[in-house]
Parts: sequence; C-alpha cells; structure tokens
Amino acid sequence: MAAQILPGLERKLKAELTGDVMFDRFSRGRYATDASHYQMMPLGVVTPRTVAEAERALALAREEGVSVLPRGGGTSQAGQTVNESLVIDCSKHLTQIYELDIGERRCAVEPGIVLDDLNRKLKPYGLWFPVDVSTASRATIGGMTANNSCGGRSLRYGTMRDNVLSIDAVMADGTRAHFGPVAAGLSNLPPGSPLRPLARSLLDIGLREADEIEAHFPKVQRRVGGYNLDAFAPNAPQHNLAHILLGSEGTLAFSTRIELKLSALLGKRAVGACHFGSFYEAMNAAQHLVKLKPIAVELVDRTMLQLAGEIAMFRPTLKAFVHGEPEAILLVEFDEGEVENKRRLKELAAMMGDLGFSFHKSGAKWGGIVEVYDANLQAAIADLRTSGLNIMMSMKEEGKPISFVEDCAVPLINLAEYTARLSEVFEKHGTRGTWYAHASVGCLHVRPVLNLRQEKDVKAMRAIAEEAFAMVRAYKGSHSGEHGDGIVRSEFHEFMFGKRLVAAFEEVKDRFDPKGLLNPGKIVRAPKFDDRSKFRYAPDYAAGELQAALDWSPYPGAGGGFQGAVEMCNNNGACRKTTGGVMCPSYRVTQNERDVTRGRANALRLALTGQLGPDALTSDEMAETMQLCVSCKGCRRECPTGVDMARMKIEVLAARAAKHGLSLRDKLIGWMPRYAPYAAMLPWAFNARDKYPRLRQLSERFAGLSARRTLPQWRKDVFRDERDDSHSLPQQKGVHARLGREIRGRGGEGEEPARDALHALAARETTHGAEREVVLLADTFNRYFERENLDAALAVLEAAGYTVHIAKPTDGSKRPLCCGRTFLAVGKVDEARREAERVIAAVAPFVNRGVPVIGLEPSCILGFRDEVPAMVKSEGAGQLALHALMFEEFLVREAALGRFKPPLKPVAARALVHGHCHQKAFGMFGAVERILRLVPGLKVETVESSCCGMAGAFGYGTETIDVSLAMGELSLLPAVRKADADTLIVADGTSCRHQIHDGAGRDALHVARVLAMSLRA
Ligand SMILES: Cc1cc2nc3c(=O)[nH]c(=O)nc-3n(C[C@H](O)[C@H](O)[C@H](O)COP(=O)(O)OP(=O)(O)OC[C@H]3O[C@@H](n4cnc5c(N)ncnc54)[C@H](O)[C@@H]3O)c2cc1C
Ligand code: SF4
Ligand code: SF4
Repeated sequence: MAAQILPGLERKLKAELTGDVMFDRFSRGRYATDASHYQMMPLGVVTPRTVAEAERALALAREEGVSVLPRGGGTSQAGQTVNESLVIDCSKHLTQIYELDIGERRCAVEPGIVLDDLNRKLKPYGLWFPVDVSTASRATIGGMTANNSCGGRSLRYGTMRDNVLSIDAVMADGTRAHFGPVAAGLSNLPPGSPLRPLARSLLDIGLREADEIEAHFPKVQRRVGGYNLDAFAPNAPQHNLAHILLGSEGTLAFSTRIELKLSALLGKRAVGACHFGSFYEAMNAAQHLVKLKPIAVELVDRTMLQLAGEIAMFRPTLKAFVHGEPEAILLVEFDEGEVENKRRLKELAAMMGDLGFSFHKSGAKWGGIVEVYDANLQAAIADLRTSGLNIMMSMKEEGKPISFVEDCAVPLINLAEYTARLSEVFEKHGTRGTWYAHASVGCLHVRPVLNLRQEKDVKAMRAIAEEAFAMVRAYKGSHSGEHGDGIVRSEFHEFMFGKRLVAAFEEVKDRFDPKGLLNPGKIVRAPKFDDRSKFRYAPDYAAGELQAALDWSPYPGAGGGFQGAVEMCNNNGACRKTTGGVMCPSYRVTQNERDVTRGRANALRLALTGQLGPDALTSDEMAETMQLCVSCKGCRRECPTGVDMARMKIEVLAARAAKHGLSLRDKLIGWMPRYAPYAAMLPWAFNARDKYPRLRQLSERFAGLSARRTLPQWRKDVFRDERDDSHSLPQQKGVHARLGREIRGRGGEGEEPARDALHALAARETTHGAEREVVLLADTFNRYFERENLDAALAVLEAAGYTVHIAKPTDGSKRPLCCGRTFLAVGKVDEARREAERVIAAVAPFVNRGVPVIGLEPSCILGFRDEVPAMVKSEGAGQLALHALMFEEFLVREAALGRFKPPLKPVAARALVHGHCHQKAFGMFGAVERILRLVPGLKVETVESSCCGMAGAFGYGTETIDVSLAMGELSLLPAVRKADADTLIVADGTSCRHQIHDGAGRDALHVARVLAMSLRA
C-alpha cells in the first residue's frame, strides 16, 4: 500500500524548513527505491539545510505520528533505505566537517558528507578515512555508519565500527545524546543524563545474553547483521554506546555528528597477482595468504577476466599482469614501505610454491605470482575488476544479477567448500553467478541471475537464500558481511541468531523507539524478504501502450524496448559522483535527486508503468525532470549499466512535442537549418537582437532566450559547398569497398568493434596514395557561424595530400545538409530523420567505397554513430555510422598509419584543451590531445571538466541559464581564466567555445584551426 500524503505535515514542514519539502508524486517516486530490488513509496521528502532543520522535521513527523527514514546516497543493497515514511535526505546540505584534529588523527562530520569528498579534504594533511567502500563517490558517512559498512581493505582497517569514535544523535522522542565510550560504573554519564538508563539497559542485556551472544554471534570479522549486542557483553574490549548505532540502519536514532578515527594515507603499494588453475584452489589458498598480513586480498575470476578481455581498452592491462589462462587470480596487496613490500612479495611467491603451485604444472596446481609494483598498473587492474563487473550488471535481458546472498561471510577455512557448494545450489535452481571481491575476509560477492517479475524466480530466490544461509550458519559465518539487513536479511535473524537474541533485538528497538517512528520494519519486525508487494517489479507492474520514436530493440519491454532500457538503472548511484568524468553535470550543480541520471530514470520507469498517474510521460513534472539534462551522454559511457539518458530525453521531448506542440524558442532552435540560408542573406536583421537591449529583452519575454546571452552571429560569407566534386567519381572497386563488405558481413558485431576492424584492415591493406580521399561534412553551426574552422580543416587535409569531397544534397534542393541535431533537441524526430536521410543519401556513393566522412562538430558527427542508426533503419545509416569520423580521430588514425605527416611548425608553448562531452562519451577525446601533440613545442594540458554547461540550446534558456553558467564555473571557466594570454584555448564544440567566450572572455579554437596555424607558421 502506498503511503498517504498528510497535507498538515507538508504544510508545517514548508512553513518551518528552508530546505526542500517535496510531497509531489514525482519526488516521492524518486525516493522510493535504493540499490536493492525493493520499492516503497515514501510519504514525502525533506532536504534539511541544517541539523537543526533535520531535528525540526523529526519533531513535526513525531507530532503527526509519522515515521522517518534517514537517507544518504540511497545506495543500500538490502532495502534498508526504502520505507513508507518521511525521508530526511542528509546528502544535499548536511555535508560539513565540524572539526579536524590532525595531530590526534580524528575529525567530526555531519552525516551527509560523501566519503570521497571527505577524503579529498583530508588528503593535503596526509590522512584519509580508510573504510574504502566501492561506492565511495556517493556513499555518505551517515549511511556508512548506519550500515556498518566495510571497504576492500577491511582486513587492515576493519569495519565502520572500528573507525567511528562517537556519534551525536537525536532519538525518536527528540532527546539529543552523545553516544561514546562509557566508563566502568557509568561514571562518565551523570545521573540526569538521558543516556544513563539506556546504557544501563544495554549493559544489562549484554550481561543477560552473554552466553547467547557467545554461541550465536559469528566470530568472522565481517558481521554486520542484527544489533551489535556483542559490544555490551561483559567480555567486550570496551563499551562504546556508539556501537549500538553502528549498523542500526536508521532504526534507533538519527545521527547528526559522527566522530571518526583517521589513518595515514596509503603509501607505495605492491600487489602480488596470485594465479590459480582452479577456482577451488584459489579459495582454499586465501586462508594461507592472509598470514602474510596483506591489506587486501581481492578476487578476480575467469568470467571477469573474459569480460574484461572483450573490451579493447583493458587488453593491455590483461597483457601486463595475466599469465596464461588462470581460473582465478587473487590480488594480494601490501603497504609496508618499498623494502618490506618487496620482501613480502618474495614470501608470497615462496608460499605459493609451498602450497604446491607452479607455472610449470598443469591443472589445479598450475599457478604462481606476477609482481606488480607500478602504481598505474595497479590502478588499471582495479579499474578492470570493476568494469568487468559492470558489464555483468549491464545485461539487457529481463533477468538481472540480484543481490541477496551477495555478501555472506564465512571463515576462510571454509571459503573453498562454501563457494563450491553455493555454485551447486545456483546450478540446481537453473542459474549461475560470478564471484568477486573480498577473499581476505571470506566475504565474496556473487549475484545469481533471476527475473523477479516471475513467481518461479522469486521462489528460486527464497530457496537459494534458505540453502545459502543454512550453509553459512553451519560454517558459523554471517549471513550479512557487508550490505546489512534491510528487508533482505532481517527475516532470517531468528534462523541466524536464535529466538532469544531476536527478542533482545526487539527489546533494544523498543527501548530506543517504542512507537516505531524510525525506519520501522528493518532489523526487527520485518516483512518477508520475498513479499512481492514491496518489489520494484511488483506483481501488477506493467507498462502501458507506448510508441517509441527511436529504436530500442536491444532491450525487452514496451515501446520496442524503451521500457527495458529505462529499467537498466539499478540505482547504484554512480551518477551522483561530483568529480571525475562527465556524469552528471546537472547534479553537480544542483545536488538534487531530480537532476541526476538515477532520478530521471526512476521517474521514467514509474511514468511508463502508470505509477505517477495518467499521462505522466508528457506531464510538466516530467518536463522539469528532464529540463536540466544537457544531453551530454556522460551517462551513456560512465553509468555502469549504460543508461543513456540523452537518448531517453529525446523520447520525452518527442512525446511532449506530439501532445503539446513546440514553444516559439523550440521552433527557433529546431528549424534553424531550414531558415539559416535566409538568415545568412539578411544577417543584420537577425543579428539586431544582440545589438539592441530592448530586442534582447523582448526575445527573453516572448521566446525564452535569456537577455544575458549573446546569440551566434549570422554572416554572409558562409561556407559554400561548391567545389569540384562529386558523385561522378570513378566507382573504383578499391580496397575500402571490399573492407566495407567484409565488415558488413560480420553479423552481430557492435558498431565500435566493427569500426576498429575497419581501421585495422585499412592499416593492413591500403597502399599508400591509393585511397587518400575523404568527405568533409559541413555542419550547420560551422557553416553559418564559424566557417574558418571548415576552411582550416580543408587546408589541413589538402596540405596533407587528401582529396576532399564536400558532401552535397542529392535531393535537388539547394539547402545545405544538416545532421538533424537541432530537431532532436526539441523532440521533432521525424524532421531529424528527414535531415539525416538527406545526409545518408548524399554520402552513400562515398561510404560504399569506404571513404571516411569527416566532421568538425562532435554532436553532429557522433550523432551519426548514435541517434541516427536508432531512427533510420537502413543499410546506408549503418554504413555512415561506420564511416563517420571526427576530424582529429581520422588524423590520428592516418598518423598512426604513417599517412599524415604534415610539416607542422611551433605556434604556441601551451594549449589548454576542453573536451566536448560527446567526445568524452565516445572515448575519443584522447585523439584531440594526440593530434595536438604533433605540433612541435606545444605542451598540451587538459581541463578536468565535465560539461561546459552550454550544451546546444540549454545555455540560452531563461530558465536554464543560471545552471548553465554554474556548470561552466565548476571547473572549465576558472581554468580558462587562469590561463595566460599566450595559451591557446582549444575546444571542438561550438557551444563550448560560446560558453568560454561568454564566461571567460577568451576565444577558443577548434583543433583544425590550431593545425592550420601550425601549417601556415
Ligand atoms: C555497486 C555497489 C557497491 C557497494 N559496495 C559496498 C562496499 O564495498 N562496502 C559496503 O559496505 N557497502 C557497499 N555497498 C552498499 C552501500 O553503498 C553502503 O552500505 C553505503 O555505505 C551506503 O551509504 P549511503 O549514503 O548510500 O546510505 P543510504 O543507503 O542512504 O542509507 C543507509 C542506511 O543508513 C541510514 N541512515 C542514513 N543517514 C542516517 C543518519 N543521519 N542517521 C541515521 N541513519 C542514517 C538509512 O536509513 C539506511 O538505513 C555497495 C552498494 C552498491 C550499489
Ligand atoms: S543511472 Fe546508471 S549510474 Fe545512475 S544509478 Fe542508475 S545505473 Fe547507477
Ligand atoms: S545526459 Fe548528461 S546531463 Fe543528462 S542525465 Fe546523462 S550525464 Fe546527466
């Protein structure tokens, strides 16, 4: 049953809080899921600006008898962060460091601070908080504390419980309390302290249940299930009240200040990659390898290695550290200083020998170690491991790897037998899983593939869980060694801990929260873990009728697969990172769940399945959800499951355009290629808007074009197509034609591998001089506003000896070609298709002969590889997708083949380069850097930037200009401002150059211009 909105509570919260108070259906929907397979619609959501506001929200909820769910990054995997409660999201504002004591190596923080952000701030002091969870880029200290999280190096640093010194928290009745160490006889808790009776009862329970605790609490290091009653047993090393809150999943108190123990930064490490010829032997060896006191032992199995091997960028890494064909590799990491590291690796090698492994043997005893000292290679190996996992997670089918027995922990001595037996259980139930992660602490991750929309798979899930937990209990392990209880594990507490201890857990809950106001139904009194009414895919989950505008056929579900593509979001929250890469620029500015890829995907999923009311897809709320998505495609590349929100936004725009038509601004943007030839005839008239402030204001008022922005300037001397060429070129049956046919014949290959293959064959077979022709595609923006870029590209290509054909329309019209991007930006997919088809027809005679089609504008040329094949299903579209190349991408290829060797001369000492989001999304930004490095004496530096913020029409909108400028200010504009006047600023995107001009007052150059300058110099 969905929770009912309480208008009184909403009103009071809005009156008293300055942070967001959201009770609308979209906002609630966005907070209805975490990274588990559950969904519970919350009552409302608040993002308090201060701890005091959070306390006020708790008080108002209490007055209304409403329960509260504290929330951080929402990345929990066991369903602890879903409930029909008022959600208090700490991650937006409660992110301060209260105090930092470097000498004492401790700090105190607000609960919403993200681990990576904290560690970035600690780094200059040589310190870090060492509970290095994989979700460090978005997991908050509050969430980590409440989950008693643990990182890959827990062998050395332990769990959160070992690293949290004290917690200030607000209890269910509003009492504020400091949970810290208690002295003998409670002497540090004065008689009036509210904690005194609480501490007394915890110690009493600990004493009373000492035997039960001894008998039933697993002795493994990774035990995060239940309440930590062992911390209050008489034999506990110290009694710290904070330990009862560690792992309590928001059910006992709301943390407001968490005091952390810090550690010295890791030094230079050494990794021994221990190879094994059998998975069982690898698991069996773990118990011995840990005796050498490594800081981590992480597993990569054969499936992971194979998956990584399918990705071109990982092949060099595999080559560098994988020897032969191992069934499993254990990555044993040491951090003891250079000399000692070397000694430990030698010991490790000796130990492997003593255990009977040798690269000279075969079968199960084949094995040995590969030493890795190079920090870059170590990082690349870590990268490879996560990416292999990501590929597994990105299965497009309805069945997905499900997390429910994923973090059981068993004593190392039983690890081999446990993994073997659990694999048999999977097999018995018709599924399988890939093993990875923390061999050092007996907590291996594994997710069997199941389709939770089907009753039979839900039954299999229960059967697997029961069999797995029975095994774990027999081994005296822990059913949760990392991810906590939530809904997944709580039901099984009686089985794992026994009736008496579960009754004691309930006693603890009642002592803290007698009215069940804090995250009820977790840890105690939980629902059945297979209660399908609480699933994301509940029994009545279904999408309505849906006509998608683009092709989504690789995915299952309604709208030709659109539904399946949307459902790829598993809520892992990687899109909430705030540095590195591109994803997600809008979230980086607003920190709103609405403005992150995950929030958008959730809104779409709920809308498609009718959970947000009728017509939700075309509603204003959906438009707002998509409004700040700049279609940068950052998520297409960086989301672990490949959620491509830029493409999904086109669907929303198309549905909305079909229902409501277009605004004046959308018409001006969309139809630009159609009216551009006229604007070029009367540039003064079209440019008048920028000249006269009054016109600017009118354009803001009537067309929604911000008066604060200049528009691109129209000109008469636009780039013209009239050159030699044509389609009457001899239809020579060259090597490219054959290569094209060969590639086309390779059914099932993806677009990128096919292009790689095309390049490789071209390299092998093309004879010098024979095939040196290219097609240059002049895009609308460069043609009308910056023809200098096209002129420069022409000059460079011709100087390097290429015959350049300019792509011209073949439909008899005089209007130049356009990729259709502007139409896509406003949801006019049919018009975009028409434009794309004109280009496809125009270049067909060339691409059929294998002639590359080169462009300068990333969003245009890369659209031919991405959106165009999704809207035009023809052989020509496929061919163009294979042959469309960015200018620099083509030149890098040619340079590698020794065919691009122009006489370049020095032009400047330094170039500061900003990559267009689409260049980054397609992994080709490196080409810009590589080609610039051909210019003698030029030091090429890259701005670590996300999206520039201009993003086509986004930067011009009255309602989006502020976010647009804020995106630019994240890193790009400050970096450009810092650059001296002699530094070349390089940016291939028209919009990026515009933003740099408006925001930093510098004229950025397309890479083609730099090369042309270098040629002329
Ligand atoms: C891909 C992936 C990898 C993961 N890897 C790891 C890993 O390596 N190690 C690991 O331990 N976990 C891992 N997890 C699980 C999860 O990321 C961690 O448990 C993380 O610490 C949760 O942080 P969060 O901010 O997202 O918490 P949330 O999910 O938002 O909240 C977690 C719990 O904390 C409670 N809570 C939040 N704030 C407060 C507060 N102020 N007061 C009281 N209670 C509060 C919530 O109510 C909830 O019960 C992984 C998850 C995913 C999806
Ligand atoms: S959009 Fe991708 S990165 Fe973001 S939560 Fe969903 S799956 Fe994770
Ligand atoms: S396309 Fe860019 S802005 Fe839009 S959701 Fe993806 S990462 Fe965010």
